[in-house]
Amino acid sequence: MPSILQVALDTPLHRLFDYRLPDALGPVRAGSLIEVPFGRARQVGIALGESTHSEHAGKLRDVLRVLDDRPPLPPAILRLAQFCADYYHYPLGAILLAALPPRLKNATPFAPDTPWLTLTDAGRAAEPSPRARAQRALLDALRAGPLARETLRARKQDRHAALLVTSGWAAWTRAAPIPQRAPTTAPCPPATAEQQAALDALLPALGTFGVHLVHGVTGSGKTELYLRLIDAVLAGGRQALVLIPEIALTPQLEQHFRTRFPGRRIATLHSGLSETTRAENWLAAPDCDVLLGTRLSVFAPLPRLGLIVVDEEHDGSFKQQDGLRYSARDVAIARAKQADLPVVLGSATPSLESYAQALSGRYRMIELKARAISVARLPDVELADLRHLPQEHGLTRPALAALTETLSRGEQSLVFLNRRGYAPALYCPSCAWVSPCPRCSARLVLHRTAHRLRCHHCGYEERIPHACPNCGNPDLKPLGQGTQRLEETLAAALPAARIRRIDRDTMRPRAWAELGEAVRAREVDILVGTQMLAKGHDFPDMTLALILDTDGALYSPDFRATERLFAQLMQVAGRAGRADKPGRVLIQTAFPDHPLFRYLQRHDYAGYARELLAERKQMELPPYARQVLMRAEATTMDAALAFLQRAAALAPEVPEVSVFCATPAPMARVANLERAQLLVQSASRQALQAFVRAWRPQLETIRPRIARWSLDVDPLVF
Ligand code: ADP
Ligand code: ZN
Ligand code: ZN
Repeated sequence: MPSILQVALDTPLHRLFDYRLPDALGPVRAGSLIEVPFGRARQVGIALGESTHSEHAGKLRDVLRVLDDRPPLPPAILRLAQFCADYYHYPLGAILLAALPPRLKNATPFAPDTPWLTLTDAGRAAEPSPRARAQRALLDALRAGPLARETLRARKQDRHAALLVTSGWAAWTRAAPIPQRAPTTAPCPPATAEQQAALDALLPALGTFGVHLVHGVTGSGKTELYLRLIDAVLAGGRQALVLIPEIALTPQLEQHFRTRFPGRRIATLHSGLSETTRAENWLAAPDCDVLLGTRLSVFAPLPRLGLIVVDEEHDGSFKQQDGLRYSARDVAIARAKQADLPVVLGSATPSLESYAQALSGRYRMIELKARAISVARLPDVELADLRHLPQEHGLTRPALAALTETLSRGEQSLVFLNRRGYAPALYCPSCAWVSPCPRCSARLVLHRTAHRLRCHHCGYEERIPHACPNCGNPDLKPLGQGTQRLEETLAAALPAARIRRIDRDTMRPRAWAELGEAVRAREVDILVGTQMLAKGHDFPDMTLALILDTDGALYSPDFRATERLFAQLMQVAGRAGRADKPGRVLIQTAFPDHPLFRYLQRHDYAGYARELLAERKQMELPPYARQVLMRAEATTMDAALAFLQRAAALAPEVPEVSVFCATPAPMARVANLERAQLLVQSASRQALQAFVRAWRPQLETIRPRIARWSLDVDPLVF
């Protein structure tokens, strides 16, 4: 009797598929990658269970082959994927295949690249003949450390390299080389009293599940604390996983880890890597000591995992906004629980979700209240009242004066404006036409240098019209300020200043590192950019942070807008003037009496967090309620809403769960599709989960399927 294999495939269906396993392929470990026929094509799938019978017994097709050039997914990852399938109500097969690097989902044999020429033991002892001078030189060079294939090619040494390999003196390896220069061990400063207290609490917690929230002001030495913990984990022969929001913004961090742990294997995983490198690093993960990566690394195979750190745990980029809409922070906690190990969440501005858990004692709160370097003072936060101050091109007099003063002292400034492009829209003063996107409920943004109007939501773009398409008026005007226009305004007002603009339009890979060097080398006086600048920067001579235009967030319909703004401003304020020079933060606002600013001026995260939490509790919003958002897109709003109304009508009766009315989404139209949403909420996570478990299969029966729909568990943006 041939054995039957249950296979997870990347399909929208919530089920596994049965295939016959030919004897020749014989027993297949759970988690193995296999190739099977599916419809008229072939697909890579994951083998899960074996059995001897199937409901479809007569009609089964054969497994084509086992992809044994890549290791099976380990049981821990299968279990984690099952958790995600249950919690996010998403098909297991789609999750498992999304957890793999794209290159490994492809059945073409994966020949791992072996870019490093490394000396073998024989090569280390070798004594080549003195006449083979080139070989000798190469051997000597290799004694200092491995050399990259490209380097050898550039130096025209590839033929000598091949000779060394055939004589067994060197080998091609795929491992990242151990640092070539004599490893400069980073000095490990003595722990501050607070760091020591934190270590005293955390070190005994290694080895068992627990969630520890490290709430430490910027500069309090959280990174140093992680490094010491990781040191202890590595000393015990275990691995550490460090999740960070965006690797491009923190090139120093990887370097920091490498110098701190010389000789240890540090792997990185993020979407900025080439597909091949990503696959290689993923394959190398089981053998690495520290894996540093973005949210997708939470699914990496780490058999000796001993600790997970989620740095900047409040950051929205831990939540994936399409496909499996998971929160890497929450999945990290689930993984830690399954594997019985601790997870450390770190932030200067924790998410209210985590903070509430810590206040209630379910997470352990560890506070670092003082900066590690005590001379670094927190900056003064001042407000420029837009109701009473005249503005010129969006800048008030105090703002301009602060920039001038900082410039004359030879110090640097940051100017934040959360709108990239030249102006948020193009405007016709005669008929009030305001550059609409033909496909979205949004305005086209004016990008003057590119001579384009662009939609930041759907990517639509067109040339700047010569005249108003509505009334023919040739005198069109930019409306409002974008970073490009701000740069122009600043250049005109401060002709002596060296200004650099940074936003998604100008940011290329490497641009961030290069910018950091330029700023540190004092080649820049004023840095203009969107809030993405707030994330990574750490410039000692940046003593002024000027923040224009935050008011939209103060009275936004999104209930998380103030939480996010407060976190951003705290991060900015925490970074201005880190070194011996006092910093200054100036915010232009028409709402200077908003409580957010009062807490910001006192650098009082805890105070504002408690106030926001009290509000959320009263309004029954997260973290005091759990939410699931059903989204639907269709060609008309009527269809999208009607679909959601059908969905609401199919809702099971579960006490404690409320189903709200279907409404158009805040951005109702994107890329020619109308979007609507239906919110389901409960104070009880269990009740809500039970509800969705019963509801989701019903949703699949809705006919006709006039809308594309998805469920978002714990939605972050609406
Ligand atoms: P955070 O991650 O909390 O913002 P960092 O870990 O980056 O803080 O530390 C801020 C600064 O303080 C860094 O320059 C770091 O080298 C320094 N630092 C951290 N811990 C200590 C310590 N125990 N003694 C001296 N300097 C420290
Ligand atoms: Zn017009
Ligand atoms: Zn658009």
